[in-house]
Amino acid sequence: MIEVSTFFGKRVALFGLGISGLSAARALKAGGADLVVWDERAEHCQAAQANGYNVVDLANADWSEFEALILSPGVPLTHPEPHWTVVKAHEANVPVIGDTELFFLEFLARGANDKVIAITGTNGKSTTTALTTHLLKKAGCRTVMGGNIGVGVLELPDFGQGTIYVLELSSYQIDLTPSLFPTAAALLNITPDHLDRHGSVEHYADVKARVFDQLDETGRAVVSIDDAYCQAIAAELETDAQVCLVGSEGDLPQGARLTQSGFVLFENGLQTIDIDLSGARALPGKHNSQNAAFAFLLANKVCDNDEALLQGFQNFPGLEHRCQEVGRFEQDGQTIVFVNDSKATNAEASATALSSFENIYWIAGGRAKEGGIESLGAGLDQVAHAFFIGEAAQDFGQTLKAKGIAFELCGDLNTATQRAFETAKEKPNGQLVILLSPAAASFDQYANFEVRGKAFYEAINALGAGILYDDFK
Ligand code: ADP
Repeated sequence: MIEVSTFFGKRVALFGLGISGLSAARALKAGGADLVVWDERAEHCQAAQANGYNVVDLANADWSEFEALILSPGVPLTHPEPHWTVVKAHEANVPVIGDTELFFLEFLARGANDKVIAITGTNGKSTTTALTTHLLKKAGCRTVMGGNIGVGVLELPDFGQGTIYVLELSSYQIDLTPSLFPTAAALLNITPDHLDRHGSVEHYADVKARVFDQLDETGRAVVSIDDAYCQAIAAELETDAQVCLVGSEGDLPQGARLTQSGFVLFENGLQTIDIDLSGARALPGKHNSQNAAFAFLLANKVCDNDEALLQGFQNFPGLEHRCQEVGRFEQDGQTIVFVNDSKATNAEASATALSSFENIYWIAGGRAKEGGIESLGAGLDQVAHAFFIGEAAQDFGQTLKAKGIAFELCGDLNTATQRAFETAKEKPNGQLVILLSPAAASFDQYANFEVRGKAFYEAINALGAGILYDDFK
C-alpha cells in the first residue's frame, strides 16, 4: 500500500466506498489524515464503520472544514449533472480529486524516482495495460499494474523501489487527476462512449487528451492517428515530450505502422524492426496489433532491452473474457478453436472480435443494447452460422435472417456451445472458430460477464476431455 501523507492532520471527505474509494480511505488513514467517509449505500457505510472509519453523513457536514473531497470515479463530476457532493464541494471551494491524484501528489511530495506509465482510450485499455506489464516483467523490470484494471492505485507497492507503475485510466479518473504527470502516456483510440457522463464527444476527447498535458521533455506520448478524434489530438499536441504515432497507413516520423498481423517500427522517419505477431495466441486481430504496438512503445521508453521486450508477445496469456483462446479440438485435419469474448457486451465490441477471425461459429445474445446487432453490417461476413441465446435471441435472429446467414435459437449457453460444436464438426477440413462474443449484456441469465465466460468454460469442458485448456478448468 502507498501511504498518503500529503493530507496528514487535515480533514478530508471521501465519497464512494468501492474498490478505489476503499483503497484511498486506507491510504489516507495510514498517512494520518482526519478522514470522514460516506456512501449512499447503507451496507457500504456499515462495513466502513465496522472497519474503524469515521462515517459522517456528508449532506449535513460542515464543508468549510474539508481540504479535499475524494470522489469515486463512478460518481458524476459534470454530467448528466454534478453529484450533490460535488456541488457542495464547489460551494465551499473544496477541490474534488480522485485516488489517482492522491497517488501523484504523494509521488511528487516524496520526490519518488519510480516510473509511471498511463494508458487511456475507449477500447483496449486493459489489454494494453496487462501486455505492457507483461513485457516489462519478462524483460526483468520490477513492474506493477493498477487503476481501472481492478486494483486501486493506492493498493500498489510503495514508492522508492525503482518500480514501474502501469496505470489504466478511464476518462473519469483523468477528470479527477489534475496532477497527472507520467513518464510515458498513451491514448489508444476514441469512439463516442459514455456520453451520458461527459455531455459530448468533444468533452470526452478533451478529457482523454489531458493524459499528455504534463509530460516533460524526458517523457513520451504515444497516440493513435487511426480515428478522427485522436488525429486531431495528435496534430495539436503541445508537448516537449517525444511523440510516437501509431497508425495503419503511411510512413511515420516516430512510432509504429500496423500491419495485418503485427507492426513495423519507425525511428527518425526510417523503418526499423518488423514485428510479426501471428504466433502470439493471445493477440489475434488488428486491434491487438494496435495494443501490442502501444505496449512496446510504452515499455521501451522505460526499458532499453528491446529484444527481451519483443519476446514477451509470444507468451502473453491474454486477459480473461476478452477474445481469449481457451480451447482447441483437432481431428483429421480439422481444427476448431474456442474463443471467449464474454466481455463484449455491445455490438461494437463484438465487431472487433468478428473482424479478428474467419469461419466463425458465433454464439451471441443476452440482454441487448439499443439497436441490437443492426450496426454490424459487413462485420457479419465471416459468420458461418450463429447460435443465439437469452432475451435478444429472436431480435438477433431477425437481423441475420435479413442477411441470409444461418442461425438457430438455442436458449442457453450450454445448448449453443453443444450445437456450435456439432455444426462445426460437420464442416470440411481447415480452421474454424467457435466464438462467444455476445454483443449483449449478461444480466438476463448471469450475474456478470465473468460468470458468463466461466459458464462457457464448463460448456466446452462438457464437450470432451482435452478440449478446454487446463488454465481454465
Ligand atoms: P477496455 O479496458 O478499454 O474496456 P479491453 O482491453 O478490456 O478494453 O478490451 C475489451 C474489448 O474491446 C475486447 O474484447 C475487444 O473486443 C475490444 N478491443 C480491444 N482492444 C481494442 C482496440 N485497440 N481497438 C478496438 N477495440 C479493441
